[in-house]
Amino acid sequence: MTRLHRLQPLFVEEIPTNLDEGKLYISIPYDTITHLCACGCGCEVVTPLHPAQWRLTYDGEAASLFPSVGSWGLPCRSHYIVRDNQVLWARTWSDDEVRAVRESDCLAIEEHYLADERPGAANGPEDQPQAERQTLLQRLWRRFSSGTRG
Ligand SMILES: [Zn+2]
Repeated sequence: MTRLHRLQPLFVEEIPTNLDEGKLYISIPYDTITHLCACGCGCEVVTPLHPAQWRLTYDGEAASLFPSVGSWGLPCRSHYIVRDNQVLWARTWSDDEVRAVRESDCLAIEEHYLADERPGAANGPEDQPQAERQTLLQRLWRRFSSGTRG
């Protein structure tokens, strides 16, 4: 899977149904920015423009998003910063970090979950190392098996 290193800003009235990879769709009327996850997994990432959520800076050529885009709702758990049309990759979130951010910054997360809970998202290919995936499966398995204990 190819990670993108650039996103081209594209101002639109409405976010189109079919998104192209590598484009940052910016809809001022709807205060929303949408793009396909820069890891190449094909999942849609919605970042609403709001003082408590994301803010956009645009200098006529380059767009920057603040804060970073942390798609912990997606199987890929991508985490990157969009600055001057560039995708600056950050470390993948761990479970503890996801929880910590969730507690400190609830607003941003709610929107991620709304955007990410779609059929098919869980079937996307992952670029996590095999070991990490196994741990996740084991953790899930433990969660399920402890639930049926009794
Ligand atoms: Zn992704």
